[in-house]
Amino acid sequence: MQTATLFDLPDIQTLQEAPAAAAPAKPKPKRTSRVHASVPLEPSTTVPDEMIRDADWVVISSSGGKDSQAMLSYVVRRAKALGMLHKVVVVHADLGRVEWEGTRELAELQAALAGVPRFEVVQAKGADLLDRVEIRYGKLKTKAEEEARERGEDPAAVKVPPAWPSSSARWCTPDAKRGPIRTLYTRLVAELAHLVLGRPVRILECIGQRAAESTQRAQLAEVEINRGASNGKRTVTTWRPIHAWSDRTVWREIARSRLPYHPAYDWSNRRLSCVFCVLGCNNDLVNGARRVPELAAAYARMEVTVGADFKKGLSMREIIRRAEALEAAEGPAARPPAGTAMAEHVGRAMTSKYRARHAALYGLAA
Ligand code: SF4
Repeated sequence: MQTATLFDLPDIQTLQEAPAAAAPAKPKPKRTSRVHASVPLEPSTTVPDEMIRDADWVVISSSGGKDSQAMLSYVVRRAKALGMLHKVVVVHADLGRVEWEGTRELAELQAALAGVPRFEVVQAKGADLLDRVEIRYGKLKTKAEEEARERGEDPAAVKVPPAWPSSSARWCTPDAKRGPIRTLYTRLVAELAHLVLGRPVRILECIGQRAAESTQRAQLAEVEINRGASNGKRTVTTWRPIHAWSDRTVWREIARSRLPYHPAYDWSNRRLSCVFCVLGCNNDLVNGARRVPELAAAYARMEVTVGADFKKGLSMREIIRRAEALEAAEGPAARPPAGTAMAEHVGRAMTSKYRARHAALYGLAA
């Protein structure tokens, strides 16, 4: 067996100059969410009227869309019956240029017509959703380049992950909606500071998510403590009042409520909020490109900037191409008669009644 001689071993100087063996990378400490000890694990009740009674504030999140307005009508009806309308606040997260035109105004009108005394608009500070895609791209690129350098690779050759939001990286909702709405919660808590409650302020947040929308939403609880939004000063309970409702039930509630709905539904849209929602169906996206071509063009330019398609497997360029093909075949997108979407779900008779009552009550074209 060959043994190492003195000459095989590195000299002392070489040993001193040799870089220390790279220490194993320490795992990053996990971020532990700090939830105040006063925040309960489970809601004390899931009975709607008891939840409304127990709450200091009932905050209805309204996108102005059909689910929001059906929920608004339903919750307001219950709050009125309990004599608790004074604690109801409607909040709209304004998404700026990326949402359907007139949405904020419509949400405000729906709240006012429903008799809600208070309507609040919140908005993310700084850049809007589309600009945030570019900002996120910059951050992802910097990170990918740093990691490539650490691996001894060419940073110019890195592949930057897609910056667009997606169903698996849905950063748009907390950025554009959830975060700004929490600023309202902070204000609402401050408004009750003069009361000596001896407990955190109770906020009942009402969200119009439905099980029928997706398998992911189907798994959501109808009532749960929102531990992320709760802290030592407030306990936020999430209530999804229309979680079990079907499309038909939603439209029946709208018909019953007489509140106006957004014309985009009559233009065959299934969702409202962002014109180009990453979760939107192809029909809604093409519809958006026909109705708001300048916004579609801005999204297409952003695809070039960030080097990724708006949706996996579907670029905005392709959406625009489909929209233009339809325009060429059918002419400019027609505006179907008001009530078209409602009639599909509840029939013409109920829709005619809705429109007639609507016009008589508010003098508005439904
Ligand atoms: S509407 Fe769609 S794209 Fe817009 S914030 Fe909500 S999930 Fe994101």
